Amino acid sequence: MDYDYDVVVIGAGPGGSMAAKTCAEEGLNVLLVEKRQEIGAPVRCAEGISKEGLERFFEIDRKWIAREVSGAIIYSPDGTELKLSSEMAGNEVGFVLERKIFDRDLARMASKAGAEVIVKTTATGMEREKDGLRIRLKRMGEDYEVTAKIVVGADGVESRVGKWAGIDTTVKLGEIESCVQYLMTNIEFDPDFCHFWIGQKYAPGGYVWLFPKGESSANVGIGILPTMTKKTAKWWLDRFVQEYYPDGKIVEFVVGGVPVTGPIDTAVSDNVMLVGDAARHADPITGGGIANAIKGGYFAGKVAKEAVDAENYSKEFLRRYDEMWKNDFGKTLHRNKLLQKKFLKLSDETLDRLIRSIAGYNLEEISVKRLVLELIKKNPKLLWDIRHLFT
Ligand SMILES: Cc1cc2nc3c(=O)[nH]c(=O)nc-3n(C[C@H](O)[C@H](O)[C@H](O)COP(=O)(O)OP(=O)(O)OC[C@H]3O[C@@H](n4cnc5c(N)ncnc54)[C@H](O)[C@@H]3O)c2cc1C
Repeated sequence: MDYDYDVVVIGAGPGGSMAAKTCAEEGLNVLLVEKRQEIGAPVRCAEGISKEGLERFFEIDRKWIAREVSGAIIYSPDGTELKLSSEMAGNEVGFVLERKIFDRDLARMASKAGAEVIVKTTATGMEREKDGLRIRLKRMGEDYEVTAKIVVGADGVESRVGKWAGIDTTVKLGEIESCVQYLMTNIEFDPDFCHFWIGQKYAPGGYVWLFPKGESSANVGIGILPTMTKKTAKWWLDRFVQEYYPDGKIVEFVVGGVPVTGPIDTAVSDNVMLVGDAARHADPITGGGIANAIKGGYFAGKVAKEAVDAENYSKEFLRRYDEMWKNDFGKTLHRNKLLQKKFLKLSDETLDRLIRSIAGYNLEEISVKRLVLELIKKNPKLLWDIRHLFT
């Protein structure tokens, strides 16, 4: 049978655009479908990414970057500060993006490589069509259908593609960070660092962040686990802002959820691969998901090409996509899920003790592994059960 497309990608966030770009560069006939009328807006993100996360795939365009930072400062509940270099601070520190520009440019790159990109079009369903799939789309009130050999589900945290394909992407209530963020101006902070406040005092089950966008403007936000507090994320953030930045002005307001399930068993089914938040690829400790969405999109694009060449779209064949993301960042997702569970049980006093126990180390020179091993050495009873994660 003739299909309209080799690949239909649903959702034009970083994961979907990267998948479409990679497929198009591999010579596949690809359609990228986005339900919003403007790619990249409204932004539902604090916009932090490591330099490595971008440099691995792109020649960096300075207009994507709102601010470059040299590291992170973590504040424990009693105010003890821990300064980390950007290499130490994880996948979300290094650059603070301008996602409105970055996401749009990435979709533009996909289009330039040959992908067809359509906005204001929602995927509403999907069913089997011989060896491929029939995808239902709705554009400005009008329903129509296209056929494809492969669908890449890059439809974010509220993904429906996974459900349509029968992939288990269930997120329990205790596994979704509820987030609220203000873009604030007129505030004072050290603009060379991303700032994190941890502990029940600030954010039950999560943390408060401040990611600089300029000298006196920043994304100030919070993620909490709704199972750990009766108050809303907005209530906690307002309390923080009143105390720390009472003179700041709020110029944008976003809400959103981040899935923190840890790795799912499989992100594929017959003819279908899931990437980014749809595949629950956000980091359970930091909530960051841009870098993994980009990587997943790239891997899915490569595997789509192999599948089209082999004329094999079975889940058994597509499992090579599972292998790629699991080998790359799956182990870190697994480890960080276990760490998250451990840290959720710690009281604010314990967090203070832990942070104080490593005050004075030169954290530019030691690795995350060494840092955690030092923490375990200094606090053996407390952290005994996680030592195996780092040996
Ligand atoms: C408040 C907040 C702060 C965050 N901060 C950071 C951070 O600093 N660093 C970081 O790395 N991560 C951060 N994240 C997480 C990050 O935003 C996501 O992990 C990342 O955007 C995932 O990319 P994605 O391509 O998978 O999905 P998304 O960026 O969510 O894109 C999915 C796209 O699919 C579209 N779509 C959905 N359904 C359909 C449909 N049926 N048909 C067509 N289109 C559809 C959506 O409109 C959307 O454009 C944050 C998240 C939140 C909520």
